[in-house]
Amino acid sequence: MAEDIDELNQAVKDNREFFIDRLDLKQVEYLLAHEVLHVAFEHMLRRGEREPQAWNVACDYAINQILEDEKIGRKPTGDDAPLLDSRYRGMAAEDIYGELEEWTKTTGYTGCPC
Ligand SMILES: [Zn+2]
Repeated sequence: MAEDIDELNQAVKDNREFFIDRLDLKQVEYLLAHEVLHVAFEHMLRRGEREPQAWNVACDYAINQILEDEKIGRKPTGDDAPLLDSRYRGMAAEDIYGELEEWTKTTGYTGCPC
């Protein structure tokens, strides 16, 4: 049994790189704080009938600006880096969503893997 689990773990390690594997400690801090803020701000409960993809993007912009302003962790970089745009500073996810809805439909952006 233990050997099976070791084999499975090794197979996963050999075949798949996880987003978190590429992060340093400050970037993991950023990612964890990001996830905590989704819960603290009750984003899942506030979505209502909004389109889920655009809502997630709006929430990510709201959260990431706070993390940047409060200097919590360090934003990961790369093609799948978290979204950040200072024009959304101080805005609630609901207001950001209103500006993003059309953009997310045309770009097909799915948000960060968080
Ligand atoms: Zn997120």
